[in-house]
Amino acid sequence: MADIIQLLPDHVANQIAAGEVVQRPASVVKELLENAIDAGSTTIKLIVKDAGKTLIQVIDNGKGMSPTDARLSFERHATSKIRSAEDLFSLHTKGFRGEALASIAAIAHVELKTKQATEDLGTLIEIEGSVIKNQEVAVTPDGTSLSVKNLFFNIPARRNFLKSQTVELRHIIDEFHRVALAHPDIAFVMFHNGSESFNLPVGNYRQRIVHIFGTKSNEKLVPVEEETEVLKISGFVGKPEFAKRSKNEQFFFVNNRFIKSAYLNHAINSAFEGLIKEGSYPSYFLNLTVDPKSIDINIHPTKTEIKFDDEHTLYAILRSSVKHSLGQFNIAPVLDFDRDNNLDTPYGYKDMRVANPTVEVDRSFNPFKEEQQVSRSGQVSHTSRKAPAAQWESLYVGLESKGTKDEHSFSNMEFESEPESNTLFAEDKDIKSNQTTYQLHNKYIISTIKSGMMILDQHRAHQRVLYEGFLKHLTIKEAVSQQLLFPLTLEFSTSEMDVLRQLKEDLEHTGFIFSSFDTEQLEITGVPVNVPESEVSIILEQLISDVQQEVPDSNFSATDLLVKSMSKSLAIKTGQSLSAMEQEHLVNSLFACKEPSVSPNNKVTFVTMSVDDFDKKFM
Ligand code: ADP
Ligand code: MG
Repeated sequence: MADIIQLLPDHVANQIAAGEVVQRPASVVKELLENAIDAGSTTIKLIVKDAGKTLIQVIDNGKGMSPTDARLSFERHATSKIRSAEDLFSLHTKGFRGEALASIAAIAHVELKTKQATEDLGTLIEIEGSVIKNQEVAVTPDGTSLSVKNLFFNIPARRNFLKSQTVELRHIIDEFHRVALAHPDIAFVMFHNGSESFNLPVGNYRQRIVHIFGTKSNEKLVPVEEETEVLKISGFVGKPEFAKRSKNEQFFFVNNRFIKSAYLNHAINSAFEGLIKEGSYPSYFLNLTVDPKSIDINIHPTKTEIKFDDEHTLYAILRSSVKHSLGQFNIAPVLDFDRDNNLDTPYGYKDMRVANPTVEVDRSFNPFKEEQQVSRSGQVSHTSRKAPAAQWESLYVGLESKGTKDEHSFSNMEFESEPESNTLFAEDKDIKSNQTTYQLHNKYIISTIKSGMMILDQHRAHQRVLYEGFLKHLTIKEAVSQQLLFPLTLEFSTSEMDVLRQLKEDLEHTGFIFSSFDTEQLEITGVPVNVPESEVSIILEQLISDVQQEVPDSNFSATDLLVKSMSKSLAIKTGQSLSAMEQEHLVNSLFACKEPSVSPNNKVTFVTMSVDDFDKKFM
């Protein structure tokens, strides 16, 4: 038989490899920014159009390339950064695989302009789908400009697979933040569709964070500094009372490289234990410096995960230092100034228990009793709800549509009338004569129905009720607002404000009234009825985080997301005890909904069990 194995042509191999390096426009941004940093640039400019689908351009003032290097840089495994395998263990550059430019050139239209400071003239190269279209001598400033147009032009499936502009831009901004945070000594500018999104001058680390996340972040930063034989930590954690509903202010950098590590993240969370409530996440911006020999960054193609030689030690040191900082800056209730000697001799750790700074525990703290929840700093936390009795009015939301009850398909679900038969506990009958519902574990509501019983998830059911109520307001655009006595001023980072700006109109339709909408601050003079003022910042934060994190599908609708997010924030939580009246209202309002059987996120809101089902169980 004839031989059948062939070597793939280079452009095919490159296209395949590209799949691994370039998942989306943000991957290109990351690679180009990293190349600019490796080239020793002090100013880097990122220009993006249409969330990277039309153009991604990075202009740097780094060392540039010679004409030959410029040509070679597009070859696969062509790199100036390592020469042998040993070099992998002493990496001081971001790149080393020599794959990025080859991959990008395989799936886009690329134009490179580059010049070394010692030369008068530079080089221009144009490549489309790995094919060189043009190479010539060019007049261009010192440094390199690389522009990537029409990404995935030759892989339509990939192009169509890209998410909405909002999502892709979010990913780009995330990469930009990561790179910019790792290098406060380099100036960065970012433009999107012609307008400047970020302008980050050279500064110290704190200034860089504030430039990115807004002026309000300054007051929340607590410095963390620690130096041991194996590890140097520097950076900041956010004060517990500023903990966010989203995880997008959590950054670890190892030797100036952004990494993800669930394990180290856990170390931070455990240092914050008892200081922040569930569902909130501490902010952190931490730089770890370790011996390059002790890590292996080669295990993940996009290099955001790394392997440490001695993770346990890092964990212990990190946790202790964060606790120490929180204590020292008077954030944890009990101060512990005694520096832990173990920190200097980490190798002894393995047989030793880490002595953690003591934290005074509020034994009466009950995470489920939200109305009593006071954050440790003494501030009443935002979510603190009024006593349930004062809250039950919100159960009426959506009840207006009760009149239409008969139209929906659940009209055949008859609720059982007052039991006529002798009850087992006759004396109870007088007290709870009308009660047809019962709350189980502050989570489920059990109600008797003609065929048996129904068990309802209180949180999901209420979400449905609120969701339909808000939707109704939105569609008829006649939301009822309640005027605030004093305008409420809230601060957000510029990118958070961008998200809110997109949703401004919808927010107004639900009942929000904004009196100003600046770059980092907004002022609210009216909120939807049934939205307590104390919940407003939580709702907006939750909303931002939902928009940023939910990777919406093609039929992504901002309105729907807004309404879902608001209902989620405001719905009665699991753990909240409800009076008989509240339980009954919830049941009634749920069945007044158009689609009572599922929550806005398509989760089942109630199940039924018939007497037959029970009979079977008792057989
Ligand atoms: P890697 O960064 O892994 O080496 P790349 O494909 O990203 O691989 O880049 C290939 C080579 O091109 C780099 O090693 C570097 O020598 C050169 N290069 C890429 N971008 C720049 C730039 N902005 N300035 C100077 N040289 C660059
Ligand atoms: Mg590179």
